[in-house]
Amino acid sequence: MSRIVIVGTGQGGFQAAASLRQEGFEGEIILIGDEPGLPYQRPPLSKAYMADGMADRLLLKPAAFYERASITLRERTRAAAIDRDRRVVTTVDGAEYPYDHLILATGASTFRPPIPGQEADGVEELRTLEDAARLRQRLADTRQAIVIGGGFIGLEFAAVARAAGVAVTVLEAAPRLMGRALSPEMSAWFLEAHRAMGTDVRLGAGARRIESADGKVTGVDTSDQKVIPGDLVLIATGVRPNVGLAEAAGLTVGNGIVVDGTLLTSDPAISALGDCCSFPLPDGSPVRLESVQAAVDHARHIARRLVKGTTDSYAAVPWFWSDQGKHKLQIAGLGTTADEVVRAPGPDDQPVFLLFRDNRLVAVETVNAAGEHMAARRLIGTPKAVLEAAGFGLKQALNAAKA
Ligand code: FAD
Repeated sequence: MSRIVIVGTGQGGFQAAASLRQEGFEGEIILIGDEPGLPYQRPPLSKAYMADGMADRLLLKPAAFYERASITLRERTRAAAIDRDRRVVTTVDGAEYPYDHLILATGASTFRPPIPGQEADGVEELRTLEDAARLRQRLADTRQAIVIGGGFIGLEFAAVARAAGVAVTVLEAAPRLMGRALSPEMSAWFLEAHRAMGTDVRLGAGARRIESADGKVTGVDTSDQKVIPGDLVLIATGVRPNVGLAEAAGLTVGNGIVVDGTLLTSDPAISALGDCCSFPLPDGSPVRLESVQAAVDHARHIARRLVKGTTDSYAAVPWFWSDQGKHKLQIAGLGTTADEVVRAPGPDDQPVFLLFRDNRLVAVETVNAAGEHMAARRLIGTPKAVLEAAGFGLKQALNAAKA
């Protein structure tokens, strides 16, 4: 194999290139991305960067890294088509990039529900550095922000805006916050935490229409017939995987580009990773994760397969974090199928929730409890009885397992 092309220069695309070199790949690596500039981290966009605006700290590596590692970076250009018979990627400017293996790392884009009025000035989204820079600038002149969507990104932004003294309303159509990813118990804890920050959180409140005057946003009309006034609206209602390129090339696509346990698509010359792919969990059920950990671990797994010829299935324990004000939420495992939640002892009375399915630990949610989180990552799958014997203390259970 002499030439690997990677489409997407986000977290996963960057990591694939870096890991290929770390594993000893000596052929050509071409990274194609439609955003301007060097690959950067997205998580700080709604956290530290939104608060302090320091863009240089976002870069995953400085320019010299790409030169030293002989990684060719084609920025500001979009892969428009894949010719699978000829094994060639064509970009919008007509350039052709032949490949021996192709890695799709196209990520996801903000999903905008069909709420009328979104064209008004002052309606923003948050996915890229360009989005974040614009939003940050606007925030400086904002008196009242409205966040549509009570998920991770909307709530992280809400916390930063509150800390900057801006009045914030969060509209969440579902009955609880971060409902797709958290236990009801942790959702309830964060509801109180955001209210304590002074955020007006409205559950069961969908946005019906964005109101404006002279082209500028003035508020949001909600499903409970109230108009919330505001001069900035952030649409944070989730993302959709970028699958168009793969779909047009005839690859199998579901909720993401479908890959097998080794992260190969329906074409053995093409892998996919990160936010854009739907991969099987060890029990075979398909999942698509939106997390740095998944993008990075997928990339490493693919690099090992391509360079060392490994054939094992991807089985890393998922983990995730979100900083909301002074609260660092960390999640180990996947709790969406849990049938029981137990509150465990945490440091300084911080919440630690253990999520079980069929009496086995499937996920652990913690706040400001790094030690418990690290222990949890190693305890996923442990029988409930074993944890119960340790008084549900995670560090104690881990020590007992080691003894
Ligand atoms: P991305 O990083 O989205 O990269 C995909 C890249 O491909 C993009 O640059 C896209 O423009 C480009 N692209 C798409 N199609 C094409 C094409 N045809 N041609 C060329 N380029 C293309 N995760 C966490 O774990 N913890 C957090 O706290 C956290 N916070 C976040 C905060 C924000 C504001 C955002 C937006 C995300 C956050 N995430 C967080 C999620 C995390 O950033 C993503 O899961 C991760 O970036 C996924 O990496 P990826 O490589 O799959 O996709």
